Amino acid sequence: MPNPPRPIRELADELISQIAAGEVVERPASVVRELMDNALDAGASGVTLRLLAGGVRLISVEDDGCGIPSRELPAALRRHATSKIQSLSDLESVATMGFRGEALAAIASVSEMSILSRCDGDAHATLIDARSGELRPAARSVGTTVEVKELFFATPARRKFLKTDATEVAHCIEAVRRHALARPDVSFAIWHEGKLVEQWRAAEPDARMADVLGEDFRDKSVVLDYVGKAPGANALLSVRVRGRAGTPDAARSRADHQFAYVNGRYVRDKVITHAARSAYEDVLHGQRQPVYVLCIDVAPTRVDVNVHPTKIEVRFRDSREVHQAVRHAIEDALAQSRAGLTTGTTAQSEQVAIGAESATSNFSLPPNPLGSASAALSGEPQGHARWNPASWQQARLGTDASAGHVVRDLGALWDRQAPGSNADFAPKPLPPGDWPLGRALAQVQGVYILAENATGLVIVDMHAAHERIVYERLKGQLDTAQLMRQQLLLPASFAATPEEMAVVDACGDALEALGLEIGAISARSLAVRAVPAALAQADAVELARSVLAELSQHDASHVIQRAQHELLATMACHGAVRANRKLTVEEMNALLRQMEATERADQCNHGRPTWRQLSMRELDALFLRGR
Ligand code: ADP
Ligand code: MG
Repeated sequence: MPNPPRPIRELADELISQIAAGEVVERPASVVRELMDNALDAGASGVTLRLLAGGVRLISVEDDGCGIPSRELPAALRRHATSKIQSLSDLESVATMGFRGEALAAIASVSEMSILSRCDGDAHATLIDARSGELRPAARSVGTTVEVKELFFATPARRKFLKTDATEVAHCIEAVRRHALARPDVSFAIWHEGKLVEQWRAAEPDARMADVLGEDFRDKSVVLDYVGKAPGANALLSVRVRGRAGTPDAARSRADHQFAYVNGRYVRDKVITHAARSAYEDVLHGQRQPVYVLCIDVAPTRVDVNVHPTKIEVRFRDSREVHQAVRHAIEDALAQSRAGLTTGTTAQSEQVAIGAESATSNFSLPPNPLGSASAALSGEPQGHARWNPASWQQARLGTDASAGHVVRDLGALWDRQAPGSNADFAPKPLPPGDWPLGRALAQVQGVYILAENATGLVIVDMHAAHERIVYERLKGQLDTAQLMRQQLLLPASFAATPEEMAVVDACGDALEALGLEIGAISARSLAVRAVPAALAQADAVELARSVLAELSQHDASHVIQRAQHELLATMACHGAVRANRKLTVEEMNALLRQMEATERADQCNHGRPTWRQLSMRELDALFLRGR
C-alpha cells in the first residue's frame, strides 16, 4: 500500500541549501575549487590551502585579496547573495569565476564554517561563525580566510563515498592545479597535515606550466596561437586558441594532462576534447592520450557559462566554429614543428597578425595570462627541440595509403615458420638457411630494418616488432607462474604526484603480482626497486609511471584479472627497443629470428603491422622493369 500523500509544504531554508550543496559540494576538492574561485575573484596575489585528514577535518583557504566588509559578512553566507552580478545583462558578460552566490551557503550547510576577513582601511579583522551568525573582532592582515571543518558531518551518507585521505588530497591538488595553470601571476601553496606538499610561486606562464606539468611538458610541446575566423565575418565571431600542445611522443596513457579553459575558466567540454582528439588522429595510436593546455577565448555573448552548478560545463552558440578552431590550432602547430620551422616564422606570424587585427576591432579578446606565454616562448627553439620529426613520420606512414598498391602482407610465410629460438634479443651468429623474414641488410633512419628473403624485400618496424615479442614473452611467463622479478642494483627514484603515491599505497599486491616493487622514500618521491626480469633493460621510472597510471584507473582488487594483459602491453611497449636505436646487423638478424619464433608477431599490440613484404615483382613494377 502506498503511503497517503503528505501535504505540499515549502522546504526549510537549511534543507534547500543542503540539497543545493549536493550539486556543488561533492568532495573536499569541490570546496577547494569554490574557495579558490572566490580568492581569485577577490584579486588575491597569493593563496594558501591547508588540509587536515584529506580535507574532511579541515579545509582552510587564505588569500590576500580585497576582503569582505564586516557588515556584508552575514550576507555572504546567504543563498543567492553575490557581489558579482546584479542583472541578467551582467550575466552575459560575467568576467568573474563566481556569480551564482551559492557556494558559501552550500558549503556552510554541510560543514562547520567560519570566515575571517579584513578590508583595506578596517581597524581590525572580523570573524563570523556561519552556524550562529555571531560576529567578533579578530586579528588578520587584509584578505580573507575561510575555514571549513568537519565536512559532511551532518550528511554521513556522503561522507561514506569519500576515498582515502591521500586520494582526496590528490583531488584537491588537482583542483588547485587547474587554477594555477590559468593564473601564473598568482602564487599557490598547499599544506596537508602541516607539511608543504606543493608550492607554485608567481612566474612567467611558461615557467608555471613547467612547474605544474613538469619540464617534460615544456620540452615536448609546441606553442599554439591561432585565430579562427569565419570568412567575411567580423571579429565578434572569432575564436582564439592559445596555449601549448604536446607532441605525439609526450602522450600519456591517461587523459590527466588535458586542460581546457574558456575565457579563463577551466571547463570539461566534449566539443573541445573531440576537436583536440581529432587533431591528433593521425599521429597518436590506440589509447594514447594527448597532453595540452588550451586557452580558448570567445566573445562572452557567444558562450553560456551558466549551464551547470559548478560551471565546469559551458554551451557554445556555435560549437562547430570552436571545434574547427581548436582542431586547426593544434594541427597547424604540430605541422609547423614537424616541418622544422621555429614558432616565430612565417605561418606563426601570419596568425599573430590576424590576432592583432581582431584586437583593433570593436571586440578585443579578453586578456589571457597564457597569451603572454605564447609570446614569451615564440622565439624559443627548444619548445620542440626534443621532438623527433622522424618518429612522427613513421607513425603517419602507418595510415599512408599511397604505398598500398605495392605493399601487402605475405602471411603465408608463417606457415613454413622456422623452429623458434628463445634466445634473448642479443647478437648471435646467423645460421645459414632460408629464413622466412630473411637476412638483415640495413637499418633505415633508426626506424626500419630492411632484409632480403627469397621473395624479395622485407621491411620491419623495429619497435613494433620487438614490442610484440616482449609482450608474448611476458604473457607466457604470467600464464605459467609469477613474473620473474629482477632487483635493481640502484633503486630508480622519481618525484611522484600525490595520486601516484596513493596508488602505490593502495595497490601493493597488484604491483607485486606484476613483478614490480615500488616504495615511497619520502612524502613526494617513489623508488622502483625491482622490475620484471624481461624488462630489466627498460626505463624503470617510465615503466612505473605508466603502470601506476593504469592502476589508478582500475579497482585494485580486480586489476590483476581484468587489466593484466593491458598492463603487459604497456610494459611491453616500454620494454621494447625504441626507434632511433642503432642496431648491428647481428642484432637485426636476432630480432628477425625472434619474430619468426613468436606467435602473432606480424602485428604489434596496437594492431599495426610489424612487417611488410615487397616481392621482386612489386619492386620491378616500381621501376617499370619488364620481366
Ligand atoms: P559567488 O562567488 O558566486 O558570488 P559565493 O557564495 O562563493 O558566491 O560568495 C558570496 C560572496 O562573498 C561573493 O560574491 C563575494 O562578495 C564574497 N566573498 C566570498 N569569498 C570571498 C573572498 N575570499 N574574498 C572576498 N570576498 C569574498
Ligand atoms: Mg564563489
